Amino acid sequence: MVRIAVIGAGIAGLRVARRLVDAGAEVRVFEKARGAGGRMSTRRTDFGPFDHGAQYFSARDPRFRQQVDAWVKRGVAAPWAGRVVRLADGVVEEEPQGVDRFVGAPRMNSVVRDLLGDIPAEFGVRIEKLRSSERGWTLIDDAGFEFEGFDLVVVAVPPAQALPLVEASTELVGAISSVKMWPCHATMLAFESPIAVDFDGARVESDSVVWAARNDSKAERGEEICWVLQSRPEWSEAHLDSDPESVGSQMESDFARAAGVTLPPVRYRATHRWLYSRPAFSLEGPTLFDRKAGLAVCGDWLRGDKVEAAFIAAEELADAILPATGLG
Ligand SMILES: Cc1cc2nc3c(=O)[nH]c(=O)nc-3n(C[C@H](O)[C@H](O)[C@H](O)COP(=O)(O)OP(=O)(O)OC[C@H]3O[C@@H](n4cnc5c(N)ncnc54)[C@H](O)[C@@H]3O)c2cc1C
Repeated sequence: MVRIAVIGAGIAGLRVARRLVDAGAEVRVFEKARGAGGRMSTRRTDFGPFDHGAQYFSARDPRFRQQVDAWVKRGVAAPWAGRVVRLADGVVEEEPQGVDRFVGAPRMNSVVRDLLGDIPAEFGVRIEKLRSSERGWTLIDDAGFEFEGFDLVVVAVPPAQALPLVEASTELVGAISSVKMWPCHATMLAFESPIAVDFDGARVESDSVVWAARNDSKAERGEEICWVLQSRPEWSEAHLDSDPESVGSQMESDFARAAGVTLPPVRYRATHRWLYSRPAFSLEGPTLFDRKAGLAVCGDWLRGDKVEAAFIAAEELADAILPATGLG
């Protein structure tokens, strides 16, 4: 039996894990967070749920579309029919339609949890180092605990976090060290009453805010009036160390100005900083699988900057690993 460790329980890691398990490999997943989802996550609060990472996903590639249709059928994803517009200085313009948008249901990470199923996973475990010996790969976590005996390790985390884990492969280090990921602030707002607008999502022209969405317009999110604002990447980079309170307050007022409305009283406001949110460019190179070393890397940044890109990168990596390990 081929023993494979997958580091990172985002959509990329879990899609690879699912393909390998279905082909007969023994897979164990390691994730530093308390649950699966990565950048497809939902924060649950007393004031309602907030999708503070990915807002929705589209499926242009037939390989991903097939998966999305299966998720919708099983009830873990649903179409999002929200009205999306463009906003600048109080002027609302219709966004050209043409793309089907989907969300996880009831939470964004429901689809990722569906991929995980009953694959063995260690949560709350941050892998810090990999060591290779004649018995295969050993993973070492930040508490010094060791997990040994893997034939192959798939590192499905953002490039900066992947680098220290793939030091043993000059091929992989060379390929990923040039990838830059932008930071992003997500400000979550719950209001006492609805905002006087008739859209559900908006691409925003303002200093700080680039996107706004009414979370409660998505499937199974409840009745609370919850909005998520996302920052412009360059603005976040310039405000990386600013305190979350002032970041949230500026984003709130920039959104109100762009929408041309006075916002209702706020019941809850919190700002989350994503250090690695979206890649500045995608590598679009070959699959990153160093067969000799028994190491592979995967993530959205290999094929774009979206949920779909992460899935496709995982699909292509699984296509490369399966024949090389005698599984497919
Ligand atoms: C604010 C924001 C908005 C977005 N909006 C959209 C959108 O509207 N539509 C869209 O399609 N995409 C959107 N995206 C992008 C989308 O979320 C990502 O492309 C996709 O989720 C990436 O998946 P991944 O599996 O490659 O990486 P991730 O989801 O980042 O998964 C990597 C996982 O690895 C874990 N990890 C990292 N280091 C370690 C370690 N050392 N040990 C153990 N675990 C580790 C992390 O905790 C994480 O769970 C958005 C992203 C952000 C941040």
